[in-house]
Amino acid sequence: MKHVDEYRDSGLSAAVAGRIRKLSTRPASFMEFCGGHTATIARYGLESLLPAQISLLSGPGCPVCVTPVGMIDRMIALARLPGMIVASYGDMLRVPGSASSLLVERGRGSADVRVVYSSYDALEAARSNPGRQVVFFGIGFETTAPATAAVVLKARELGVDNFSVVSAHKTTPGIIRALLDSDEVKLDGLICPGHVSVITGTAPYRYAAEQRRVPCVICGFEPLDVLQSVLMLVEQVESHRAGVEIQYRRGVREQGNEKARRLMDEVFEPADSVWRGIGTVPGTGLSLRPELSRWDALARYRLDLPEPQEPAGCICGKILRGAASPEECRLFGSRCTPATPVGACMVSGEGACQVRYRWRRHPA
Ligand code: SF4
Repeated sequence: MKHVDEYRDSGLSAAVAGRIRKLSTRPASFMEFCGGHTATIARYGLESLLPAQISLLSGPGCPVCVTPVGMIDRMIALARLPGMIVASYGDMLRVPGSASSLLVERGRGSADVRVVYSSYDALEAARSNPGRQVVFFGIGFETTAPATAAVVLKARELGVDNFSVVSAHKTTPGIIRALLDSDEVKLDGLICPGHVSVITGTAPYRYAAEQRRVPCVICGFEPLDVLQSVLMLVEQVESHRAGVEIQYRRGVREQGNEKARRLMDEVFEPADSVWRGIGTVPGTGLSLRPELSRWDALARYRLDLPEPQEPAGCICGKILRGAASPEECRLFGSRCTPATPVGACMVSGEGACQVRYRWRRHPA
């Protein structure tokens, strides 16, 4: 497959891994922010190609995994309202809330929950059901937030009043800063998310490189991309440099996508956001601007809900902070499997627990 096969070439991968082994002289822990990278690393067994002193840690970049229990409870409560249709991306249906999930509610017949492939599918559901309310559950980072912003503006343009959005979107700069400032895990480099960076450019990583002296490399999603990014990080570590470099040149520009960011700015404003197992991180969420409150489901439906209950024994939070591996969870592979997920990290194909379960990635 042109433009893919070359990034999966085993000979080239072995050559890059050889350069890493030759250059690396000291222990280093690199965090892959994005669940897409976690999946690539496990699927292609990339850790086995690296020298033992290099560790790769999973980070908080799986959107399904970081959505908190309380937000799932809220969506379930919304879905139970008479006549309501809730629309979201597929994985969100399986994420456990305090006592149920959107999928369970749908199975019981107590809620009309629909899987959509884009925010526009949700708007179409509203247009084809004028007598009912449709709420779109928007999740994800800067990658998916522009599509949610666009659909809100479209709803306003078309005057679709039976459509609204729950924004559970999150942004990257604040969480990277929070992780580094917590000093819970010592990081020697960040493998930065390629898709997010298509929108943001290099800006979210400047604090890490310039203030915390942590090297950053924006990385693509094929195995050779990841290996080359590790090599670039090792080069920075070994030469005592800390900068923001772009490995994923075929997708990312320094300045990112200004048009998409303008779209986000028109619709959203920064808000404090709760991250699963991490807590509230100031300024890392996106709320609809007050002038668009007509399409803001959180403003439209004020629900009084009990305190959310985290699943007992689940250590997703530590895993998302890079402070534990899935095998350290006593439920991993026993009570918690992809077919019976207890926590969100076992739900998504980019969640560290599901990735480890599927590919049996083991720490070095
Ligand atoms: S294995 Fe399951 S219960 Fe344990 S941390 Fe992962 S998702 Fe949570």
